[in-house]
Formats: sequence, C-alpha cells, structure tokens
Amino acid sequence: MSELSQLETIRARRSYGQAFPAELEAKFRDTQRRRHRIGRTLTFAIQGIAIALAPFYGNLLFAPDPSIVPWLALGTTAMGLLLFTTAWATFRSHAAGLTQRYQAVSVIATAWGALYLRYLSLLGLMDWPPEVISLIVASSSIFGGYRWRRMAVGALFCFVVAAVMQLELQGWNRRSAVEVFSLAFMGLIVILGVYGHELISRVAWINHRYADALARTDPLTGLSTRAEFNRVFASRLAQARRDQRCVAVLLFDIDHFKSVNDTYGHLFGDEVLHSVGRLIRTEFARRPLDLRVRFGGEEIAILWYDIDESQIPDIAERLLEAVHRLELREPGSGVTVPITASVGVTWLRPRDGVTPVTLLRYADELLYQAKRQGRNQAVAHGYYEHRDGSAQWK
Ligand code: GH3
Ligand code: MG
Ligand code: MG
Repeated sequence: MSELSQLETIRARRSYGQAFPAELEAKFRDTQRRRHRIGRTLTFAIQGIAIALAPFYGNLLFAPDPSIVPWLALGTTAMGLLLFTTAWATFRSHAAGLTQRYQAVSVIATAWGALYLRYLSLLGLMDWPPEVISLIVASSSIFGGYRWRRMAVGALFCFVVAAVMQLELQGWNRRSAVEVFSLAFMGLIVILGVYGHELISRVAWINHRYADALARTDPLTGLSTRAEFNRVFASRLAQARRDQRCVAVLLFDIDHFKSVNDTYGHLFGDEVLHSVGRLIRTEFARRPLDLRVRFGGEEIAILWYDIDESQIPDIAERLLEAVHRLELREPGSGVTVPITASVGVTWLRPRDGVTPVTLLRYADELLYQAKRQGRNQAVAHGYYEHRDGSAQWK
C-alpha cells in the first residue's frame, strides 16, 4: 500500500491514537525526536542541576541531615553527570541509537533518584517534597515527546511507589492523605497530558504529511508530480555524478491520445492514464532512487538510477509491449482498445557539465524522432559529454 493510501486510511478512520503502520510510525517517532531535541536537552539539564545540587541547598530548601551528606553528594553528583551527558548527547544529535539509550536510562534513573530522595525525606533525613517528583515526571512528559504509554506507565509507577512510601512511613493521617491526593492528581494530569499531547502531534503530523504527499503525487496516475520531479531531479543527477552511476532519462508519450479521448470519451482516457501509471510504478520504475513522473497531460518521464546501460533499449521496448498488452476495454462494447506509445530515452554517467534541462531536451528530441518515424517505437541513444561540458550523441 502506498504511503498516500495509508495516510488516507488513517484520516478516514480517524485512527490517530493507534500506532501507525510500521514505516510511518518510525518516521513519526523520528520527527518527535527531532522536534523535542531542545526540549529534552533543557529538561535533562535542569533536572541534572536540581538533583546534583540537592545536598547543597543547605537549610534553604531540601536541608539534608549532615550525616548523609557525603553519600548523598556522591550519588546526586553521579546522577547530575549522567543527566548532563544525556543533555549534551541529545543536543548534539536527535538520532536513534546511543542517544536514545542515554535518554531512556536517564529518564528511569531520574524517576528512581527522585523517589529515593523522597524516601530519605520520609525517614526525616532531608526535605524533598512530593511536588518535586510531580515536577520531574511532568517535565519529562511535557517536554520530552516520548511515547505516551511508556510515560503513563512510568507516572503511574512513580505515583504508586511514592504513595505507598508515604503511607508506610508516615502512617494513615491527614497529612499523608493530602500528599497522596496531590500525587494522584499529578498522575492523572501527566497521563491525560501525555496522551493529549501525543494525539495532537499525531493528527498534525498525519495531516502535514498528507498535504505533502498530495503535492508530490498525481492522483490519477499515482506517479510523482512535475513539482516533485523539479525538486528531486537535479539532486539525483548530482548524486549520480558523485557515485559515478549511470542514469537514464526516458520520455513517454501516448500515441494519438486525443483521438482516443474523442472516440471513447475522457473517462476512458483517464482509465488509460491510470493503468499506464500503475504499470510504470509497479513494474518499470520501482527502486527507491528511480523517479517516475506525470510530466504533462499524457506524457510520463522516468529516471532510472544506476541502470545497466546495455539493457536500456530492451527495457524501453518491453515497456511499450507491456502498454500495448494492457487490457483496456471500451466502455460500451467491452472490446479491448490497443494503446501504443512512443519513447525517447537517453543515458549517461554524469560529469560536471550536464544540467537536467540538457538531458531532458535530448530525451525530448529522441521522443519526437520516434513520433516522426511513425510512432509505436522507442528511440534510444546514449549521451556523451565532453570534458568542456559540450555534448553529442554517442
Ligand atoms: P501524438 O501521437 O502526437 O502524441 O498525438 P496526441 O493526440 O497524443 O497528442 P496531443 O498532445 O495533441 O494530445 C494530447 C491529449 O491528451 C489532449 C488531451 O485532451 C489529452 N489529455 C491530457 N491530459 C489528460 C487527462 O488527464 N485525461 C484525459 N482523458 N486526457 C488527457
Ligand atoms: Mg503529448
Ligand atoms: Mg500523445
């Protein structure tokens, strides 16, 4: 299923809340990592400061018992270093891999660290109110853009552990009830918050991608649009130049299409274009670096990347035969209407001089040659480029 139809299905079913098909989901996660890079960096850095300095706030804030200060300082400094390393790694690269592992370890370690400090606080060894746990969990959830289910499970876990510690160590009294209530409120806000946040991100991401896919895809043929071709063609040639790969440019034009329309109607003409587009997409230009474009009305362009030049004329012939064999039935009688087309195709290993326009002009000349010679044929010529950038037929 093409990406466009996957996006259409998600939009039609409004199934934004569920995981997308694997490839789309991976792209969405990548966007989330990219978008939240600065948010994650700052969150890790601020949490790192909050935790690393915990033993040093003295009587002002979290006032730890002097007897635990050395060990506490050791632990919180280590945590601070971990969080700063993660902040730095996140800032340098949003990408999956090591950074992602650092982030996962840091989020879990921060939650455990905050809970442990709360434990010391409940033992009367320092002051570390439950609000700090709420702040830590909420900040990771809001600014992190992590998967909502994981964050929800994490928030629930923190809430349960903090509540159980409170009731076990301080007993069931009014103060404990207030603390547990505030923790429950935190848990609820975080869970609803991460879910809502992710849902909004998913809806926006799918709609943005859908608009983008519409601009890149021709709806009738499923081929790329001319705008997409203009955007990508030059960079594909530059890539072929760098990699010293052979590229071929083919221009395809249906023969006497005007009279096909005039004889059988425009809807039948559309059906022809749809079938030819599908044939080219599924059988003749399938590799990721190939381009296949609806160039104009009934003209199609193909760019084959890294193709064996000795095979190009054969492939062009096979394309024409396949088009001719398409079972296109006349709407009224059901009789098969044979369709023929003409093709001009050229190829080269690009050097510095060649521009997309020159190459297209050559292919176009070849196409006209095929038309002049009586249509229903392919004219194939390699393109030779001189060192000074001028060119000639091979
Ligand atoms: P030739 O063999 O020289 O290419 O002749 P032709 O009739 O194919 O060439 P011409 O350029 O005169 O006609 C192209 C026709 O393609 C005219 C136009 O009506 C038709 N056409 C362009 N876009 C579409 C479309 O989206 N759907 C349909 N049904 N027809 C289209
Ligand atoms: Mg034409
Ligand atoms: Mg034509």
